[in-house]
Amino acid sequence: MIFAAIFRMIEHAARLHGLNRGRGFMNFFSTRNADVKASFREAVFHGLAPDGGLFHPEVEPDLRNDILAFDEESSFQDIASRITARLLPEDFSESDAAALCERAFPFSPALKQISEDMYLLELFHGPSCAFKDFGASYLANVMELFLEGDDGRAVILTATSGDTGSAVAGAFYEKKNIDVVILYPSGRVSPLQEKQLTTHGGNISALEVQGSFDDCQRMVKEAFLDPELAGRLRLTSANSINLGRLIPQTFYYIYGFSQLKHRVPAEVFFCVPSGNFGNLTAGLLAWRWGMPATGFVAATNRNDVVPEYLDTGVYQPRPSVRTMSNAMDVGNPSNFERMQQIFGSDLMDMRSMITGIAVSDEETARTMKHYYVDRGIFLDPHTAAGVYASRQFLARSFPGVGRVITLGTAHPGKFGELVSEATGCAPDLPERLSRVLDLPKKSTVVENSLEALRTYLLSHYT
Ligand SMILES: *Cc1c(COP(=O)(O)O)cnc(C)c1O
Repeated sequence: MIFAAIFRMIEHAARLHGLNRGRGFMNFFSTRNADVKASFREAVFHGLAPDGGLFHPEVEPDLRNDILAFDEESSFQDIASRITARLLPEDFSESDAAALCERAFPFSPALKQISEDMYLLELFHGPSCAFKDFGASYLANVMELFLEGDDGRAVILTATSGDTGSAVAGAFYEKKNIDVVILYPSGRVSPLQEKQLTTHGGNISALEVQGSFDDCQRMVKEAFLDPELAGRLRLTSANSINLGRLIPQTFYYIYGFSQLKHRVPAEVFFCVPSGNFGNLTAGLLAWRWGMPATGFVAATNRNDVVPEYLDTGVYQPRPSVRTMSNAMDVGNPSNFERMQQIFGSDLMDMRSMITGIAVSDEETARTMKHYYVDRGIFLDPHTAAGVYASRQFLARSFPGVGRVITLGTAHPGKFGELVSEATGCAPDLPERLSRVLDLPKKSTVVENSLEALRTYLLSHYT
């Protein structure tokens, strides 16, 4: 106890004197047990900590000076590479970090003003047209770099209900020494999503599982625990709890802040359409590292366990319900553990920084219609839920004081049918999405069992 207290004091003093500067956080620990530690490389290849917890940075580096030096002239790549080099100096020199971010980010976010006090940070200009491209692309390039020089190949197994798989497939396509196997539930992803998963070929294989998304997830979990597979293959995951996906999501908050800071002298809030809460967690990390955000709005659909927790203090996970913003249909958000870690499980602290707002499908559809009819702006259902929550938040706040940046998580064309239904008009489908519709589907139908997955993996990768 006493030693721990003294250690904390020394650590605190060291931080005040900047001794941690440049050291970055070499180490990560499990949210379930602070003694379970890993390097960045280990955390990237293991995904989940061995005790089932999530890896979390051990020290919070002070990057305030770096962050405040950025402005509207700073490119996204510049911000990404500077922060990478500061955070992970043991893994990346400045020039490695620059090369990594140049490869990972041939696309960039865009900040657009949509009303007097609201901005949209569009995160859908990447290959799969959703924000998950940022995390997936960084992770893919980090893994490729780490595997260079190792002999042997890594096999990435991932289960998807649609969006994650398409970002992962695009990001890992043609990466050296990596094979990707995506499991998706037959007949339960949209036709466009299915094409995004199944048309790459090469090192990307799509398994069409005769079962539900939960079956796909169970098969992947069982495969990781299977001794024969573990002995013969280097299996790894690419799901959204992986640190290699979380860290790059901090970069676009810093980018959005830097774009806005000279435009208006106002407090900056971020509103995040949330499901598993990875995106919001990344925003909180950016703030802890020194980005001067005043607060966050956690926008959910009817799956509102986090807003409910902020309201009542009771955290009650439950099975998800279906809504029109289906990438946010999560009943037990895995990143809640990281949020608890950030606030030391202190409800009042969390409340002082995060406002939770749950949005119904009806409010979401109304928002899509309103923005289209009034201003000619198409919003996808996820982003629309965020925009609605931002308006609610501003309506409750002191007028004129704050600006809200809502994260635009998906391109409206990606959810074209729902958008047309709400607005009466069809948004354009970006060329990179319409192109895949004409390509032939290449998938392998597999039975819903570990045995079927094991047979497939052993026959293709050993
Ligand atoms: C994944 C996803 C979300 C939810 O993000 P989390 O990090 O899981 O909270 C929101 N919108 C879209 C379009 C998504 O694909």
